[in-house]
Amino acid sequence: MTLEVFPKNWQVIMTNLVVQKYGGTSVGTTDKIKNVANRIKSYYDNGSKVVVVVSAMGHTTDELVDLAEKLSDNPSKREMDMLLSTGEQVSIALLAIALEAIGVPAQSFTGSQVKIITDGNFSNAKIEMIDRTRIDIALSEGKVVIVAGFQGIDKNENITTLGRGGSDTSAVALAATLGAKECEIYTDVDGVYSADPNKVEGAKKHQTITYDEMLELASLGAGVLHPRSVEFAKNYGVTIHVRSSFNMNPGTLVVSEDKLMENIRVSGVTIKNEEARVTLPEVPDKPGIAADLFGALSEKDIIVDVIVQSSPSNGKNTISFTMPRKSLSIAEPILKSFAEKNKTGNPDINDKIAIVSAVGVGMKSHVGVAATMFKALADNSINIEMISTSEIKISCVIKEEEAKKALTEIHKAFKI
Ligand code: ASP
Ligand code: MG
Repeated sequence: MTLEVFPKNWQVIMTNLVVQKYGGTSVGTTDKIKNVANRIKSYYDNGSKVVVVVSAMGHTTDELVDLAEKLSDNPSKREMDMLLSTGEQVSIALLAIALEAIGVPAQSFTGSQVKIITDGNFSNAKIEMIDRTRIDIALSEGKVVIVAGFQGIDKNENITTLGRGGSDTSAVALAATLGAKECEIYTDVDGVYSADPNKVEGAKKHQTITYDEMLELASLGAGVLHPRSVEFAKNYGVTIHVRSSFNMNPGTLVVSEDKLMENIRVSGVTIKNEEARVTLPEVPDKPGIAADLFGALSEKDIIVDVIVQSSPSNGKNTISFTMPRKSLSIAEPILKSFAEKNKTGNPDINDKIAIVSAVGVGMKSHVGVAATMFKALADNSINIEMISTSEIKISCVIKEEEAKKALTEIHKAFKI
């Protein structure tokens, strides 16, 4: 993933640059916006140059989605991006107004004004280039720069959005563009925990966690950071500091593995709910079959997670995979025509499953991690339907009703 910066050989050395992103809950009300403004003021008064990215206030984006859904079952993605980008335009202006009211000069910019150029993939666009000219000018005029998160424009000047939660990515991409060492992400939790503290008693806050662990946790639904923000941070060596805007406590630093301060086997246990398992029996064992099936699903933007294929017997095998439950209605016709075309058995669908995962770079150097996880499930009579592993992750597909117990017991077993 590369990011082009314009103007090209621009060399501004800004040692005192701070890049911060405030999420929806941090700017949910005018009082909270005042709180954020005061926080920014303290950095500004210390002589820092501050670039701030904000999300839409509170649940604004969801409310905008609801409005569109009242008018159409299938609104065009271009118009959805036009609509959803308005949420951030409100919050950047309000924050600039709040800053000016306390004597801090500030200027807000939409994505198109700072030329955050993306591809044309509406609702899930990728940032390709950022032009820092206007930001540098505003900073040199002594202003706090406030940029709308989550949005950009494509090369035809259509407004695009980066996918839900995408303001994190706007912030880290800006930090990378401006050469900042760190990007502070203010959210409603005060760091990255070993498990959801609302679900697991004794969940522990990490001082540091690696990019790779964070990427796995993000894709497992531990929605603290937008996954692409972590990819940018990793590629450009930006440390992400996840922290709360409601207190001054240090949060969690997302760093490269050599900067890790903890040495533990498992750093996070997560549950991904609202998943479904699909099993296709008697699939002919020949080249191109899996490409056909998963190609058709990806064309409809269906995110497939765990995939297991049995080894062939009598020229047939079984393919099982998990996917979001909400996409089943789109997947079913694809599965049906695949089954007919390839004369497989009937697809079997279980829409009451969950995926429980343990993540940790420490797995690379500690033995017995998988065994500990399987034993925690076995001791609680929880059946494992599918298993998948990577170098730093083990995932098990289990019954949804057992998910919460599984989470607690696995967390306990790893003595995090
Ligand atoms: N406002 C957008 C959303 O709710 C982007 C963000 O919050 O990061 O998804
Ligand atoms: Mg977020």
